[in-house]
Amino acid sequence: MDGPLIDPHGRTVDYLRVSVTDRCDFRCVYCMSEDMSFLPKKDVLSLEEIELICSAFIYRGVKKLRLTGGEPLVRRNVMWLFRKLSRHLKTHALEELTITTNGSQLERFADELSDIGIRRINVSLDTLDPEKFSSITRWGRLDNVKRGLEVAKRANIKIKINTVALRGVNDNEFDNLISWCGDEGFDITFIEVMPMGEIGDSARLDQYMPLSMVRAQLNNSWTLKDIAYKTAGPARYVKVEETGGRIGFITPMTHNFCETCNRVRLTCTGMLYMCLGQEDRADLRTAVKADDGGDSLMAAIDEAIGRKPKGHDFIIDRRRQDPSNPRHMSVTGG
Ligand code: SAM
Ligand code: SF4
Repeated sequence: MDGPLIDPHGRTVDYLRVSVTDRCDFRCVYCMSEDMSFLPKKDVLSLEEIELICSAFIYRGVKKLRLTGGEPLVRRNVMWLFRKLSRHLKTHALEELTITTNGSQLERFADELSDIGIRRINVSLDTLDPEKFSSITRWGRLDNVKRGLEVAKRANIKIKINTVALRGVNDNEFDNLISWCGDEGFDITFIEVMPMGEIGDSARLDQYMPLSMVRAQLNNSWTLKDIAYKTAGPARYVKVEETGGRIGFITPMTHNFCETCNRVRLTCTGMLYMCLGQEDRADLRTAVKADDGGDSLMAAIDEAIGRKPKGHDFIIDRRRQDPSNPRHMSVTGG
């Protein structure tokens, strides 16, 4: 129960993503239904319990930690968790503490995040058209997110925009998003829509757009050069000669990146998913609540990593109207 976490396929697990809440102040059409029901509070781990689990993973060699959700910045007192975890940055046990956010609360929290040691964040933004923004997110306001981005930029936080490519929705805006990111000094990553969770209609099937198509479209307007740049995530990057910015592509549907998968995901109820595309999960909740100095927790983590599967199995299939994975993205945080 010591040393790095190595799975049965020889991959070292050094990246943990934690969904700190399943709740959100947006209702993005590809992610949630309008009338989502959320977990009762009693099922959600306390921030102290989340901190204990994260610290156990860091002790076992996790170097990158991303807090996500739901919307992580709507969880009450989440800054306590950031502050507490930031001690691992100071000792260099942790290389990076970061967040994926919809940006709605950034205006309020960006300075504090910077102060704590957050150097890089991902902000999800699918359009620069205020009306379209409100229709995709149902409850969000673009001007609010833009103000948050300004504050984060001034606080010296590097920003990567995450854009879900949606055919017939934002596919006429990619060029505009790329020039805007170039002007602002942001990187941008395009994501394929994934069949996660029941969202109340079958729109996702029509909106699915392979990123090979996105890239072909971009080649008409930009000079894209493949580069070796890598983050802890699965994106492949190109450089845009005209703007100097980077574009990433995350293609779970058309490219299998499982062979280099270094990550596991913890839900806010304490379930550890060893693969985004598989149902198997390990219960860390019981273990973190056991009052035995962390022994049960370490044993549960080892047992879970020993079950990490080789790969996933997503399919968007028009014959099947049910999502191939019934879990919502807000449970595991993408
Ligand atoms: N609320 C935060 C946000 O939106 O950035 C963090 C959680 S959100 C679930 C994380 C990422 O998952 C976002 O970039 C979002 O666009 C993406 N996402 C949600 N549902 C998706 C789906 N069905 N397919 C692909 N990406 C999805
Ligand atoms: Fe909320 Fe993020 Fe899902 Fe949108 S993608 S509903 S912001 S969790």
